[in-house]
Amino acid sequence: MFDKILIANRGEIACRVIRTCRRMGVRSVAVFSDADASAMHVAMADEAIHIGPAPARESYLRGDVILEAARRAGAQAVHPGYGFLSENAAFARACEAAGVVFIGPPVPAIEAMGSKVESKRLMEAAGVPLVPGYHGAEQSSEALCAAARKIGFPVLVKASAGGGGKGMRVVRAESELAEAVASARREAESSFGDGMLLIEKYVDQPRHVEIQVFADRHGNVVHLWERDCSLQRRHQKVIEEAPAPGLEDSVRARMGEAGVAAARAVGYVGAGTVEFLYSAGGFYFIEMNTRLQVEHPVTEMITGRDLVEWQLRVAAGERLPLAQADIPRRGHAFEARLYAEDPARDFMPSIGTLHHLRPPAEGPHVRVDTGVREGDAVSIHYDPMIAKLIVWDEDRPAALRRLRAALAEYEVVGVATNAAFLAALAGHPDFAKDAVDTGFIERHRAELVPANQPAPAAVLGVAALDTILRLDEQARGRAAASSDPYSPWNAADGWRMNDDNHNDLMFRDGERIATVVVHWRRDGWMLDLPDGPPVMARAVREPSGRLTVELDGMRMAATVVRQGFEITVLLDGRAWKLTLDDPAARAAEQGAGTGRLTAPMPGRVVSVLVEAGAVVTLGTPLMVLEAMKMEHTIRAPADGTVTAVHFAAGDQVSEAAELLAFEAAEA
Ligand code: ADP
Repeated sequence: MFDKILIANRGEIACRVIRTCRRMGVRSVAVFSDADASAMHVAMADEAIHIGPAPARESYLRGDVILEAARRAGAQAVHPGYGFLSENAAFARACEAAGVVFIGPPVPAIEAMGSKVESKRLMEAAGVPLVPGYHGAEQSSEALCAAARKIGFPVLVKASAGGGGKGMRVVRAESELAEAVASARREAESSFGDGMLLIEKYVDQPRHVEIQVFADRHGNVVHLWERDCSLQRRHQKVIEEAPAPGLEDSVRARMGEAGVAAARAVGYVGAGTVEFLYSAGGFYFIEMNTRLQVEHPVTEMITGRDLVEWQLRVAAGERLPLAQADIPRRGHAFEARLYAEDPARDFMPSIGTLHHLRPPAEGPHVRVDTGVREGDAVSIHYDPMIAKLIVWDEDRPAALRRLRAALAEYEVVGVATNAAFLAALAGHPDFAKDAVDTGFIERHRAELVPANQPAPAAVLGVAALDTILRLDEQARGRAAASSDPYSPWNAADGWRMNDDNHNDLMFRDGERIATVVVHWRRDGWMLDLPDGPPVMARAVREPSGRLTVELDGMRMAATVVRQGFEITVLLDGRAWKLTLDDPAARAAEQGAGTGRLTAPMPGRVVSVLVEAGAVVTLGTPLMVLEAMKMEHTIRAPADGTVTAVHFAAGDQVSEAAELLAFEAAEA
């Protein structure tokens, strides 16, 4: 076994690999870009080496710099994780030349499987079933069109070098064909530098079922069952599970054998995934991924094995730890990918700081693979994944229940997330009943991504009670600090002198203003909420900071996170954003153009054009932001003085962050 390995990756997968290294007594070396200097994977590793600026092509994709880091650290092997350099044959070759073990398959296997055309030829020869199609060398438009006609519509035109769904076109009729071939070729050439195309029968409503394979250097090849990854959005996996629901054991066995045959055909070593489309009892090879897959934890949960440990053992020349007949399959597992993205804005990545981050407690049923901690930023440079939430139980309904419960417990404030979307999927009756096909999310989009709803009464009630408790706590704090703690002016219940003393609290909730009137009663509060009759309420702040609230006899636990006047109420697995509409604050903001200049959207500060104290005229450019690849200039709203500058060039800013403070000159 190795003494020390370098992990050529970041985020959750780097942390995941380090955890196994630690358990095995293998020293770990992290690499990091400028943006990741204080990232979790760097903190977890035994050593860490800086490899360059934030953009991946200048750091995590620099094979030469990473190999130099391995040499400096004295690492004997490199684990590439997934993405970045994991399927890069040139990097694997460079490792070999440098005498460093690449923890992955041999170079020829990466090369063969990197081309969809080449891999299909090999699979055909190995007797692995393929989607009916054309993967010939003759690439003229006439030949491709003739092949498509022979296969029969609908067909899928694919780029041989493709990945991530790029260069793929569904063609439903002859009339669309010539144009689809031409545009797929253009996209393939510009994205992959390789215009080679193939044509497949477009399988209607298929499932995506893939086989985890493992091979050692001694000729042993096994599979560790299958994963069903049919819940996809734009060909990207969202929730995965193992085993595949409703798969007959005879089909499972044949698929496993086909996966093993595929691995043997390319002289495979290490962890790999053979992907199939499954439809009407038949299965068809689509591609092989020559690395550890994002969704590998569901396989670990049902087999009770650590696949990263297997990777290290195989790379060190050991034999596979188990023979095929001894590989267990127990219970059912799901994985959900929690992303910083906004479903209401077409799943646009949501950049910002994770002000509050509480994953559910881990245990035998719940596992959280993450690469971020509270206070970390989700930046524009990398994949906005927050965590993979993995659950296990004896059977599928029980595991799905665990997934719903764990999703409801996950607390994230600071960025928008897809948590409610994942919860809607995990709670969908059709998904609970049976396996679904790859078109499920698109067909059910309207139900799964509900339009912005007004905050329910319970959420407004919780926000109001939290506000009242805070006033109370502040008053107690003042009393404790005062020279006369018994002064009536410091009493927390000082408002309660009349029979019906009350506070009117106003919350901005999207477009509307919701008013909650809080009446003080001897044994709690009476709340007038926007709709319905008055409600009796009680609230206690627990030592953890959480609130226990009782509304009209219903007890619930909630978390309320505040950033200035911004309030996020976390209740029942959903995050609701409100703004306390404080009249004093509003007056101050409206006063004579004085106030805050805020970021219109999340982005990066490109340049700061003024210093604090600068006297400027109306329209003077103050700061330039870059967001969504466009520049936005922040200008002076009036003649006046910049009283503070809160960010520097290169900083990430979240939406509505205060960029500069400004004071308008007297008219
Ligand atoms: P990429 O390498 O770009 O990810 P894949 O070949 O792995 O492309 O396909 C990605 C997804 O596209 C599959 O999981 C499936 O949902 C869909 N897909 C691929 N081939 C077909 C096909 N022949 N018929 C229907 N859907 C397909």
